[in-house]
Amino acid sequence: MIHTQATQDVIRRLAVVGSGLAGLTAARKLVAAGVDVTLFEKSRGPGGRMASKRLTDPADSSADIGAQYFTIRNPAFLDFLTEHAGTGCWGQWDGRFRYQGADNGWQNMRPAERYVGIPRMSAITRALSAGLDVRTGVRIACLERDTDELWQLRDTEGAVHRGYDAVLLTPPPAQTVDLLNDSGLASLADDFNIQISRMQACWTVMAYFPDGAGADFEALMPNSRVLNWAANNSSKPGREDQGEWWVLHGDPDWSDAHTEADPDQVADRLVKEFRHFGAIEAMPGTVRVHRWLYARPKARTGPGQLWFERERIAIAGDWLDGGRVEGAFNSADSLVKRLASLGVLPDSP
Ligand SMILES: Cc1cc2nc3c(=O)[nH]c(=O)nc-3n(C[C@H](O)[C@H](O)[C@H](O)COP(=O)(O)OP(=O)(O)OC[C@H]3O[C@@H](n4cnc5c(N)ncnc54)[C@H](O)[C@@H]3O)c2cc1C
Repeated sequence: MIHTQATQDVIRRLAVVGSGLAGLTAARKLVAAGVDVTLFEKSRGPGGRMASKRLTDPADSSADIGAQYFTIRNPAFLDFLTEHAGTGCWGQWDGRFRYQGADNGWQNMRPAERYVGIPRMSAITRALSAGLDVRTGVRIACLERDTDELWQLRDTEGAVHRGYDAVLLTPPPAQTVDLLNDSGLASLADDFNIQISRMQACWTVMAYFPDGAGADFEALMPNSRVLNWAANNSSKPGREDQGEWWVLHGDPDWSDAHTEADPDQVADRLVKEFRHFGAIEAMPGTVRVHRWLYARPKARTGPGQLWFERERIAIAGDWLDGGRVEGAFNSADSLVKRLASLGVLPDSP
Protein backbone atom coordinates (compact mmCIF):
# COMPACT_ATOMS: atom_id res chain seq x y z
CA MET A 1 0.00 0.00 0.00
CA ILE A 2 1.27 3.44 -0.86
CA HIS A 3 1.94 5.42 2.27
CA THR A 4 -0.21 8.53 2.44
CA GLN A 5 -0.86 10.74 5.39
CA ALA A 6 -4.20 10.37 7.13
CA THR A 7 -4.91 14.07 6.98
CA GLN A 8 -2.36 16.46 5.63
CA ASP A 9 -3.60 19.17 7.88
CA VAL A 10 -5.52 19.18 11.15
CA ILE A 11 -5.21 16.64 13.97
CA ARG A 12 -8.75 16.00 15.19
CA ARG A 13 -8.27 12.78 17.18
CA LEU A 14 -5.05 11.97 18.97
CA ALA A 15 -4.02 9.05 21.17
CA VAL A 16 -1.55 9.56 24.01
CA VAL A 17 0.39 6.56 25.31
CA GLY A 18 1.18 7.17 28.98
CA SER A 19 -0.49 9.39 31.58
CA GLY A 20 2.49 10.76 33.48
CA LEU A 21 2.94 14.52 33.68
CA ALA A 22 4.05 14.78 30.04
CA GLY A 23 1.02 12.90 28.71
CA LEU A 24 -1.43 14.76 30.95
CA THR A 25 0.06 18.17 30.15
CA ALA A 26 -0.08 17.55 26.43
CA ALA A 27 -3.59 16.13 26.68
CA ARG A 28 -4.99 19.12 28.58
CA LYS A 29 -3.39 21.58 26.18
CA LEU A 30 -4.49 19.65 23.11
CA VAL A 31 -8.07 19.40 24.39
CA ALA A 32 -7.96 23.18 24.88
CA ALA A 33 -6.86 23.43 21.25
CA GLY A 34 -9.93 21.48 20.10
CA VAL A 35 -8.39 18.00 19.74
CA ASP A 36 -10.30 14.89 20.82
CA VAL A 37 -7.72 13.13 23.03
CA THR A 38 -7.66 9.61 24.50
CA LEU A 39 -4.93 8.54 26.91
CA PHE A 40 -3.86 4.91 27.35
CA GLU A 41 -2.10 4.02 30.59
CA LYS A 42 -0.75 0.60 31.48
CA SER A 43 -0.90 1.15 35.24
CA ARG A 44 -3.99 1.18 37.44
CA GLY A 45 -3.95 4.95 37.74
CA PRO A 46 -2.41 8.01 36.10
CA GLY A 47 0.78 9.65 37.33
CA GLY A 48 3.71 7.60 36.05
CA ARG A 49 6.85 8.40 37.99
CA MET A 50 5.08 11.03 40.14
CA ALA A 51 3.90 7.97 42.02
CA SER A 52 2.72 7.46 45.57
CA LYS A 53 2.34 4.05 47.14
CA ARG A 54 -0.66 3.46 49.36
CA LEU A 55 0.45 1.72 52.54
CA THR A 56 -1.75 -0.31 54.83
CA ASP A 57 0.50 -1.04 57.80
CA PRO A 58 -0.20 1.31 59.49
CA ALA A 59 -3.50 1.99 57.76
CA ASP A 60 -4.21 4.98 55.51
CA SER A 61 -0.63 6.02 54.83
CA SER A 62 1.18 6.60 51.60
CA ALA A 63 4.70 7.41 50.50
CA ASP A 64 6.02 9.15 47.40
CA ILE A 65 8.17 6.52 45.75
CA GLY A 66 9.12 8.36 42.56
CA ALA A 67 9.67 12.10 42.28
CA GLN A 68 10.40 13.48 45.75
CA TYR A 69 9.78 17.14 45.03
CA PHE A 70 9.92 19.45 42.05
CA THR A 71 11.00 22.94 41.24
CA ILE A 72 9.18 25.55 39.17
CA ARG A 73 11.53 27.71 37.13
CA ASN A 74 9.31 28.14 34.12
CA PRO A 75 6.42 30.55 34.91
CA ALA A 76 4.30 28.66 32.36
CA PHE A 77 4.53 25.57 34.60
CA LEU A 78 3.23 27.56 37.56
CA ASP A 79 0.38 28.94 35.46
CA PHE A 80 -0.47 25.49 34.13
CA LEU A 81 -0.56 23.85 37.58
CA THR A 82 -2.64 26.67 39.02
CA GLU A 83 -5.12 26.64 36.16
CA HIS A 84 -5.45 22.88 35.64
CA ALA A 85 -4.72 21.29 39.03
CA GLY A 86 -5.91 24.14 41.25
CA THR A 87 -3.93 25.25 44.26
CA GLY A 88 -5.13 22.74 46.86
CA CYS A 89 -3.25 19.62 45.77
CA TRP A 90 0.32 20.89 45.82
CA GLY A 91 2.45 23.15 47.96
CA GLN A 92 5.88 23.90 49.31
CA TRP A 93 7.93 21.42 51.36
CA ASP A 94 10.29 23.15 53.76
CA GLY A 95 12.88 21.18 55.61
CA ARG A 96 16.48 20.68 56.53
CA PHE A 97 18.15 19.14 53.48
CA ARG A 98 21.69 17.90 54.14
CA TYR A 99 24.37 16.71 51.77
CA GLN A 100 27.93 15.56 52.23
CA GLY A 101 30.58 17.67 50.55
CA ALA A 102 33.83 16.45 49.00
CA ASP A 103 35.50 16.48 52.43
CA ASN A 104 32.61 14.33 53.78
CA GLY A 105 31.51 17.22 55.99
CA TRP A 106 27.76 17.81 56.19
CA GLN A 107 26.36 20.91 54.50
CA ASN A 108 22.89 22.38 54.39
CA MET A 109 21.39 22.67 50.94
CA ARG A 110 20.57 26.21 50.00
CA PRO A 111 16.97 27.16 50.78
CA ALA A 112 14.84 26.75 47.68
CA GLU A 113 11.22 26.46 46.73
CA ARG A 114 10.56 22.73 46.61
CA TYR A 115 7.06 21.60 45.75
CA VAL A 116 5.20 18.36 46.47
CA GLY A 117 1.70 17.00 45.96
CA ILE A 118 -0.71 17.23 48.91
CA PRO A 119 -1.57 14.90 50.58
CA ARG A 120 0.62 12.79 48.27
CA MET A 121 2.57 13.40 45.08
CA SER A 122 0.03 11.58 42.92
CA ALA A 123 -2.68 14.09 43.95
CA ILE A 124 -1.37 16.41 41.23
CA THR A 125 -1.64 13.97 38.36
CA ARG A 126 -4.97 12.75 39.76
CA ALA A 127 -6.26 16.35 39.54
CA LEU A 128 -4.79 16.83 36.06
CA SER A 129 -6.50 13.67 34.79
CA ALA A 130 -9.98 14.88 35.85
CA GLY A 131 -12.27 15.27 32.87
CA LEU A 132 -9.84 13.60 30.47
CA ASP A 133 -10.52 10.29 28.73
CA VAL A 134 -7.87 8.17 30.48
CA ARG A 135 -8.09 4.41 29.85
CA THR A 136 -6.09 2.87 32.69
CA GLY A 137 -4.89 -0.71 32.81
CA VAL A 138 -4.35 -0.68 29.02
CA ARG A 139 -0.82 -1.46 27.86
CA ILE A 140 -0.29 -0.53 24.22
CA ALA A 141 1.66 -3.20 22.34
CA CYS A 142 1.97 -1.57 18.91
CA LEU A 143 0.65 1.01 16.47
CA GLU A 144 -0.86 -0.02 13.16
CA ARG A 145 -2.38 1.76 10.17
CA ASP A 146 -6.05 1.02 9.54
CA THR A 147 -7.61 0.88 6.10
CA ASP A 148 -8.17 4.65 6.14
CA GLU A 149 -4.50 5.15 6.95
CA LEU A 150 -5.43 6.35 10.41
CA TRP A 151 -3.56 5.03 13.45
CA GLN A 152 -4.99 2.20 15.49
CA LEU A 153 -3.45 1.06 18.75
CA ARG A 154 -3.36 -2.60 19.66
CA ASP A 155 -3.13 -3.38 23.36
CA THR A 156 -1.53 -6.42 24.96
CA GLU A 157 -4.98 -8.03 25.44
CA GLY A 158 -5.51 -7.87 21.67
CA ALA A 159 -8.11 -5.06 21.73
CA VAL A 160 -7.76 -2.47 18.98
CA HIS A 161 -8.40 1.25 19.53
CA ARG A 162 -9.12 2.87 16.17
CA GLY A 163 -9.32 6.14 14.33
CA TYR A 164 -6.48 8.42 15.43
CA ASP A 165 -4.94 11.07 13.18
CA ALA A 166 -1.82 11.18 15.31
CA VAL A 167 -0.19 9.46 18.29
CA LEU A 168 1.88 10.89 21.12
CA LEU A 169 4.26 8.50 22.89
CA THR A 170 5.39 9.44 26.41
CA PRO A 171 6.88 6.27 27.98
CA PRO A 172 10.56 6.24 29.00
CA PRO A 173 12.96 5.80 26.05
CA ALA A 174 13.48 2.02 26.23
CA GLN A 175 9.72 1.44 26.23
CA THR A 176 9.20 3.99 23.46
CA VAL A 177 11.86 2.30 21.35
CA ASP A 178 10.19 -1.10 21.94
CA LEU A 179 6.83 0.31 20.86
CA LEU A 180 8.31 1.81 17.68
CA ASN A 181 10.21 -1.37 16.84
CA ASP A 182 7.11 -3.51 17.40
CA SER A 183 5.17 -1.15 15.13
CA GLY A 184 7.55 -1.44 12.18
CA LEU A 185 8.88 2.05 12.93
CA ALA A 186 12.44 1.15 13.84
CA SER A 187 13.75 3.94 11.63
CA LEU A 188 12.13 6.52 13.94
CA ALA A 189 13.77 4.90 16.93
CA ASP A 190 17.12 5.01 15.16
CA ASP A 191 16.54 8.66 14.50
CA PHE A 192 16.45 9.69 18.14
CA ASN A 193 18.05 6.78 19.98
CA ILE A 194 21.52 8.19 19.56
CA GLN A 195 20.50 11.58 20.90
CA ILE A 196 19.51 10.44 24.34
CA SER A 197 21.14 8.64 27.17
CA ARG A 198 19.57 5.60 28.76
CA MET A 199 17.60 5.68 31.99
CA GLN A 200 19.01 4.28 35.19
CA ALA A 201 17.27 2.07 37.71
CA CYS A 202 16.39 3.07 41.27
CA TRP A 203 15.73 0.73 44.18
CA THR A 204 13.28 2.43 46.54
CA VAL A 205 12.66 1.48 50.16
CA MET A 206 9.82 2.76 52.33
CA ALA A 207 10.66 2.35 56.01
CA TYR A 208 8.22 3.09 58.83
CA PHE A 209 9.50 4.28 62.20
CA PRO A 210 6.54 4.14 64.61
CA ASP A 211 8.18 6.52 67.10
CA GLY A 212 10.05 8.56 64.51
CA ALA A 213 13.59 8.00 63.28
CA GLY A 214 15.02 10.66 65.58
CA ALA A 215 16.72 12.48 62.69
CA ASP A 216 17.66 16.16 62.84
CA PHE A 217 17.05 16.56 59.09
CA GLU A 218 14.21 15.99 56.66
CA ALA A 219 16.32 14.85 53.71
CA LEU A 220 19.81 13.48 53.33
CA MET A 221 22.19 12.99 50.39
CA PRO A 222 25.21 11.11 51.71
CA ASN A 223 28.52 10.25 50.05
CA SER A 224 27.46 6.64 49.75
CA ARG A 225 27.86 4.27 46.83
CA VAL A 226 24.61 2.60 47.86
CA LEU A 227 22.25 5.24 49.22
CA ASN A 228 21.50 8.29 47.10
CA TRP A 229 18.68 9.95 49.04
CA ALA A 230 16.69 9.57 52.25
CA ALA A 231 13.63 11.69 53.05
CA ASN A 232 11.12 11.89 55.83
CA ASN A 233 7.98 11.52 53.75
CA SER A 234 5.85 12.29 56.80
CA SER A 235 7.41 15.76 57.04
CA LYS A 236 5.82 16.80 53.74
CA PRO A 237 2.71 18.99 54.05
CA GLY A 238 -0.65 17.30 54.46
CA ARG A 239 0.64 13.92 55.61
CA GLU A 240 -0.96 12.87 58.85
CA ASP A 241 1.12 9.85 59.78
CA GLN A 242 1.37 8.80 63.41
CA GLY A 243 5.01 7.80 63.10
CA GLU A 244 7.40 8.56 60.22
CA TRP A 245 7.61 7.00 56.78
CA TRP A 246 11.07 7.42 55.29
CA VAL A 247 11.78 6.95 51.59
CA LEU A 248 15.27 5.72 50.68
CA HIS A 249 16.56 5.77 47.09
CA GLY A 250 19.45 3.61 45.97
CA ASP A 251 22.37 5.14 44.11
CA PRO A 252 21.68 4.93 40.33
CA ASP A 253 24.87 3.00 39.48
CA TRP A 254 24.40 0.68 42.45
CA SER A 255 20.74 0.14 41.52
CA ASP A 256 21.74 -0.60 37.91
CA ALA A 257 24.27 -3.16 39.11
CA HIS A 258 21.71 -4.83 41.41
CA THR A 259 18.48 -4.82 39.41
CA GLU A 260 18.02 -8.56 39.99
CA ALA A 261 18.97 -8.50 43.67
CA ASP A 262 16.70 -9.95 46.35
CA PRO A 263 14.36 -7.09 47.48
CA ASP A 264 14.72 -8.05 51.17
CA GLN A 265 18.50 -7.79 50.90
CA VAL A 266 18.16 -4.46 49.10
CA ALA A 267 15.95 -3.19 51.93
CA ASP A 268 18.42 -4.35 54.58
CA ARG A 269 21.29 -2.66 52.76
CA LEU A 270 19.58 0.68 52.22
CA VAL A 271 18.23 0.82 55.78
CA LYS A 272 21.71 0.02 57.10
CA GLU A 273 23.25 2.83 55.03
CA PHE A 274 20.56 5.24 56.15
CA ARG A 275 21.07 4.41 59.82
CA HIS A 276 24.84 4.73 59.40
CA PHE A 277 24.97 8.02 57.49
CA GLY A 278 22.01 9.57 59.33
CA ALA A 279 23.26 8.44 62.77
CA ILE A 280 19.85 6.86 63.33
CA GLU A 281 19.51 4.57 66.34
CA ALA A 282 15.88 3.57 65.84
CA MET A 283 14.99 0.47 63.83
CA PRO A 284 12.14 0.59 61.31
CA GLY A 285 9.02 -1.54 61.71
CA THR A 286 7.32 -2.11 58.36
CA VAL A 287 9.61 -1.97 55.32
CA ARG A 288 8.41 -2.05 51.70
CA VAL A 289 10.47 -2.15 48.51
CA HIS A 290 9.88 -0.94 44.95
CA ARG A 291 12.18 -1.29 41.95
CA TRP A 292 12.18 1.33 39.19
CA LEU A 293 13.85 -0.03 36.09
CA TYR A 294 13.66 3.36 34.36
CA ALA A 295 13.96 6.16 36.89
CA ARG A 296 16.15 9.00 35.65
CA PRO A 297 18.33 9.64 32.57
CA LYS A 298 22.03 8.92 33.12
CA ALA A 299 23.30 12.10 31.56
CA ARG A 300 22.43 13.90 28.38
CA THR A 301 18.85 14.66 27.46
CA GLY A 302 17.34 16.36 24.46
CA PRO A 303 16.07 17.68 22.09
CA GLY A 304 12.93 18.69 24.02
CA GLN A 305 10.35 16.76 22.02
CA LEU A 306 9.99 15.09 18.65
CA TRP A 307 7.41 15.33 15.87
CA PHE A 308 7.58 13.05 12.87
CA GLU A 309 5.34 14.87 10.40
CA ARG A 310 5.15 12.12 7.80
CA GLU A 311 4.17 9.45 10.32
CA ARG A 312 2.19 11.82 12.52
CA ILE A 313 3.90 10.54 15.63
CA ALA A 314 5.03 12.78 18.46
CA ILE A 315 7.31 11.87 21.35
CA ALA A 316 7.54 13.78 24.63
CA GLY A 317 8.76 13.10 28.15
CA ASP A 318 11.18 14.24 30.82
CA TRP A 319 14.04 12.33 29.19
CA LEU A 320 13.88 14.66 26.20
CA ASP A 321 14.10 17.79 28.35
CA GLY A 322 16.23 17.60 31.46
CA GLY A 323 14.91 14.47 33.13
CA ARG A 324 12.80 15.97 35.89
CA VAL A 325 9.17 16.78 36.66
CA GLU A 326 9.49 20.26 35.20
CA GLY A 327 11.23 18.77 32.17
CA ALA A 328 8.20 16.54 31.54
CA PHE A 329 6.01 19.66 31.55
CA ASN A 330 8.42 21.62 29.34
CA SER A 331 8.64 18.80 26.83
CA ALA A 332 4.86 18.48 26.47
CA ASP A 333 4.36 22.24 26.47
CA SER A 334 6.90 22.80 23.70
CA LEU A 335 5.42 19.95 21.67
CA VAL A 336 1.95 21.52 21.72
CA LYS A 337 3.43 24.91 20.82
CA ARG A 338 5.25 23.30 17.93
CA LEU A 339 2.08 21.63 16.63
CA ALA A 340 0.22 24.93 17.00
CA SER A 341 2.92 26.76 15.04
CA LEU A 342 2.65 24.17 12.27
CA GLY A 343 -1.07 24.92 12.03
CA VAL A 344 -2.13 21.30 12.62
CA LEU A 345 -4.36 21.97 15.67
CA PRO A 346 -8.06 22.88 15.24
CA ASP A 347 -7.86 25.95 17.54
CA SER A 348 -5.02 27.89 19.05
CA PRO A 349 -4.24 26.62 22.58
C1 LIG B 1 12.92 7.27 41.98
C2 LIG B 1 12.67 8.56 41.26
C3 LIG B 1 12.98 9.77 41.86
C4 LIG B 1 12.75 10.97 41.20
N1 LIG B 1 12.99 12.16 41.83
C5 LIG B 1 12.68 13.32 41.24
C6 LIG B 1 12.77 14.55 41.93
O1 LIG B 1 13.06 14.57 43.13
N2 LIG B 1 12.48 15.70 41.26
C7 LIG B 1 12.08 15.69 39.96
O2 LIG B 1 11.81 16.76 39.41
N3 LIG B 1 11.95 14.53 39.27
C8 LIG B 1 12.23 13.35 39.89
N4 LIG B 1 12.06 12.17 39.23
C9 LIG B 1 11.71 12.21 37.81
C10 LIG B 1 10.22 12.49 37.58
O3 LIG B 1 9.44 11.58 38.29
C11 LIG B 1 9.97 12.38 36.08
O4 LIG B 1 10.82 13.32 35.44
C12 LIG B 1 8.54 12.65 35.61
O5 LIG B 1 7.58 12.16 36.52
C13 LIG B 1 8.40 12.03 34.23
O6 LIG B 1 7.10 12.25 33.69
P1 LIG B 1 6.78 11.67 32.22
O7 LIG B 1 5.36 11.94 31.96
O8 LIG B 1 7.80 12.20 31.26
O9 LIG B 1 7.06 10.09 32.30
P2 LIG B 1 6.35 8.98 33.18
O10 LIG B 1 5.91 9.56 34.46
O11 LIG B 1 7.29 7.82 33.23
O12 LIG B 1 5.06 8.59 32.35
C14 LIG B 1 5.07 7.60 31.33
C15 LIG B 1 3.80 6.77 31.47
O13 LIG B 1 3.72 5.86 30.38
C16 LIG B 1 3.13 4.67 30.86
N5 LIG B 1 3.45 3.62 29.88
C17 LIG B 1 4.67 3.13 29.55
N6 LIG B 1 4.56 2.21 28.56
C18 LIG B 1 3.24 2.13 28.27
C19 LIG B 1 2.49 1.36 27.31
N7 LIG B 1 3.08 0.51 26.47
N8 LIG B 1 1.14 1.52 27.27
C20 LIG B 1 0.51 2.40 28.12
N9 LIG B 1 1.18 3.13 29.03
C21 LIG B 1 2.52 3.02 29.09
C22 LIG B 1 3.78 4.48 32.23
O14 LIG B 1 3.05 3.59 33.05
C23 LIG B 1 3.78 5.92 32.74
O15 LIG B 1 2.61 6.20 33.48
C24 LIG B 1 12.23 10.95 39.88
C25 LIG B 1 11.88 9.73 39.29
C26 LIG B 1 12.07 8.55 39.98
C27 LIG B 1 11.63 7.26 39.36
